[in-house]
Amino acid sequence: MKLVLASGNAGKLKELQDMLAGLPLQIVPQRELGVDDVPETGLTFVENALIKARHACSVTGLPALADDSGLIVDALDGAPGLYSARYAGSPTDDAANNAKLLDALRGVPAERRGARFYAVIVLLRHANDPQPLVCEGSWEGRIIEAPRGSNGFGYNPVFLDEALGLTAAEMQPEQKNGRSHRAKALLRLRQQLALARPATV
Ligand code: IMP
Repeated sequence: MKLVLASGNAGKLKELQDMLAGLPLQIVPQRELGVDDVPETGLTFVENALIKARHACSVTGLPALADDSGLIVDALDGAPGLYSARYAGSPTDDAANNAKLLDALRGVPAERRGARFYAVIVLLRHANDPQPLVCEGSWEGRIIEAPRGSNGFGYNPVFLDEALGLTAAEMQPEQKNGRSHRAKALLRLRQQLALARPATV
């Protein structure tokens, strides 16, 4: 079964491909099939994930998997949230996003710096699929005061997993992929696939 990964984000693609390895799926990043990024015009993560997956399905005629995700910071009323990728402007600049976030939280004490990564992953069998599989996952943590670590992408260097005492950028990929928002959403997707539709994917 060939499946398009509806994302142009290299960091995200790497994680999804690592976590889907071993399944009887041929996973192809959308760019390899000539699919460009589509404007994310939804007002929720689930809407944007569906927009991305539907676009990839309609261009390729293949089933598509999309992830829409972001960082939700309590002291900022949920920002950067849906707009995490372009928090500091377009095009996406991870270093500028992190700097803007740390600026916005300057002076906020540790106990009020709670945050979570959140991901919605959807699987559409075709562009008009009326019954997408929709799974979510979140990962609780805290925003530290200065970046630490260099692995991965996005807000990894400022997001501290308090149980491990490590930022997401200080973790090895396998460690992050064992506990992240994306890993939890994908695990649920795999469970749903096994339970609900053994014959489809
Ligand atoms: P999307 O492509 O619109 O879903 O953008 C997601 C954005 O959220 C990314 O560009 C990152 O800024 C942020 N993000 C989502 N997941 C992660 C993660 O696992 N680590 C770091 N940043 C993330």
